[in-house]
Amino acid sequence: MEVFSHFSEVSGLQANMEKSSIYLAGVTQEVKDQIVDEMHFTVGELPFKYLGVPLSSKKLNIQQCMPLVEKMVARIKCWTTKFLSYSGRLQLIKSVLFEMQTYWAQVFLLPKKITKLITSVCRNFLWTGTADTSRRALVAWERLCLPESAGGLNIIDVYQWNRAAICKLLWALAAKKDTLWIQWIHSFYIKKRNLDEMLTPPQASWLVRKIFDAREWLNTTNTFATLQSHCHKGKFSIKRAYQSFLPQWPNVTWKGITMGASTVPRHKFITWLAIQRRLATVDMLEKWGIKVKKKCVLCTSGRDETLDHLLFDCAYSSRIWNSLLRWMGINRQLTKWEDEVNWLAQQMKHNRARAEILKFLFAATIYNVWIERNCRRFQGVSHESS
Ligand SMILES: [Zn+2]
Repeated sequence: MEVFSHFSEVSGLQANMEKSSIYLAGVTQEVKDQIVDEMHFTVGELPFKYLGVPLSSKKLNIQQCMPLVEKMVARIKCWTTKFLSYSGRLQLIKSVLFEMQTYWAQVFLLPKKITKLITSVCRNFLWTGTADTSRRALVAWERLCLPESAGGLNIIDVYQWNRAAICKLLWALAAKKDTLWIQWIHSFYIKKRNLDEMLTPPQASWLVRKIFDAREWLNTTNTFATLQSHCHKGKFSIKRAYQSFLPQWPNVTWKGITMGASTVPRHKFITWLAIQRRLATVDMLEKWGIKVKKKCVLCTSGRDETLDHLLFDCAYSSRIWNSLLRWMGINRQLTKWEDEVNWLAQQMKHNRARAEILKFLFAATIYNVWIERNCRRFQGVSHESS
């Protein structure tokens, strides 16, 4: 679908090639009939709908955009999602958002309220398994949207992606692409003026004004050069522009432990939480006002359950991790959690094969300790004796 389908104010004809419909505006019924006769298209009515949302050059309201949110919620609800692990839900969110950025976000400028709503549906779903209840998130959404090297999960930030997609339209305008709507905007509004100096034409439609307004997001005195810097092989890359909009975070020292394909996704997610001290251990539950039995359920030490006890002060978990290290030929005294993570992060820098096995074992240990703890704490089931 061509973007020029948006511009109903263009006089003459617009064709939506995909559906072979023709959209006519600013012509008499007689001319209309002649064109339809000539071209054998069916006549489309404006505004037509794309994925349930009307295509329009006017500002979309919340109600018009709701079909997008409803489609997303429906996909989340139709899965037996309650039983998915965190990493399963993460995969589903990523695929739903990926579809969104591929289809919707490039065709519509979504109202900020809608991007917020989409984000909150995804956030609730990730942490609770349902689309409509709200609970405290273990990690802030902004953090999840960072690249993995910066400690995030590489989830698409819909708001920023949508802005980057609008920048692609601005780039087409600045690069004077040979399409009807661009030629039209140039001859009616720009009139050979400098794009950096001219004001947003107040008489233009809402969407055209928004494309001009996108210059502010770039924060530059040379719009074209900045947009060109986001190009790859002569084409504007929304991804590159998007990355430039994300907050710049330094790489985390432990990226080697959580990146790469050698760990099982569900192991990786729990490890990722633990490294950031965001596992919902008893000390964290208490901060949320949730009261549960304090004592560690994995050992008989009588110690309270904290992240530091569980990993690896606890006799149960330290025995597992120690034996796996020995099996790898590594004899060392286990240290406190942060130091253990640092030690492992160092190991990731040499001997690739050994590093891959180590991180697999590390994540598997943490995951299985956590699952055993949950079984004992919430279901009263122990797997130790078997
Ligand atoms: Zn313990």
